[in-house]
Amino acid sequence: MPEDICVGLDIGGTNIKVGLVALDAQDGAAAPAARIIARRRLSVAAFSSPVELVEGCCTAVDGLLGEAGLEGGRRRLGGIGVSICGYVMPDGLPELTNVPYLDGFPLVTRLRERYGVPVTMDNDANAAALAEHAFGAGRGAKRLVLVAVGTGIGLGVIIDGRLVRFCGGTTGNIGHAVVDPVSPERCGLGCRGCLETKSTAPALEREANRVARENPGSVLGRLLAGSAGARVTVSEVKAAADAGDDTALGLLAEAGRWLGIGLATFAATFSPDVILLGGGMAEMGPALIGAAIEAFEDTGMPYVKRGVRVVPAALGNDAAMIGAVRGLPRSRFLWTPPS
Ligand SMILES: [Zn+2]
Repeated sequence: MPEDICVGLDIGGTNIKVGLVALDAQDGAAAPAARIIARRRLSVAAFSSPVELVEGCCTAVDGLLGEAGLEGGRRRLGGIGVSICGYVMPDGLPELTNVPYLDGFPLVTRLRERYGVPVTMDNDANAAALAEHAFGAGRGAKRLVLVAVGTGIGLGVIIDGRLVRFCGGTTGNIGHAVVDPVSPERCGLGCRGCLETKSTAPALEREANRVARENPGSVLGRLLAGSAGARVTVSEVKAAADAGDDTALGLLAEAGRWLGIGLATFAATFSPDVILLGGGMAEMGPALIGAAIEAFEDTGMPYVKRGVRVVPAALGNDAAMIGAVRGLPRSRFLWTPPS
């Protein structure tokens, strides 16, 4: 009898992560664990249409399945779970995504037709929240808020074991909570001074390049002058911060401070017992996380803050890919890899 394996496909605004996901124990086991057996990463910029993007994903899936031994019949594909940065409408179609040409595209249907297996799709923050609740830093939480900070800001909220879904299968656009109404910056969806203009990767990059232009002699200024793409990147800001550059550290702290102000709003809305910080920006390190916690403590409502843990998510950037497969029929994906 061949073993079932499943594929997690996490479509973000910048990268697409494809992985073979192993869930090692049934729900209720002492310590259920999830692992990525093999993975590929694709750049969204490599594709210019939904058909191209799906084709690129299928090539990656085929490669992983080949490596995993499907060709020899030892294992078989049990299903594909997709997470996407946007709404998933009642008809199963994506909408308001960070990859606009995917809006309205029948992604699930195309994958189902191609592989002949169950395919499910959910919002990426929802998927990450499910993964953290089952396997990560949110185990045992009664009221969990996962804040995924990357290209945008998404929230996955689980209360008493169930995802909260306001609209489009998600908690709506709460990442666009306005924190600075006099800001000159507007986000891509048009609001002024929302959290997405303050704490996301594009916001950090924008501020880093502004500072670099204004201070050509600084570490960031010299990075800009030597940059082939005429941009200082987020990873360069992180590297400069890790090397102790005060300007880079200050930019991370500023992004974190605004995020902490947003967390105070989220805490007042959902009264969580844990707030998990996930997504690529949560990997910027203690300069950002520490500033977020400090601003949360400074600005939040004392009644609500009491007993709230604010901690980094445990599964890092893999959470959405792992959580995506949890929507699949259980019998199809519980799989223990051979030792
Ligand atoms: Zn906005």
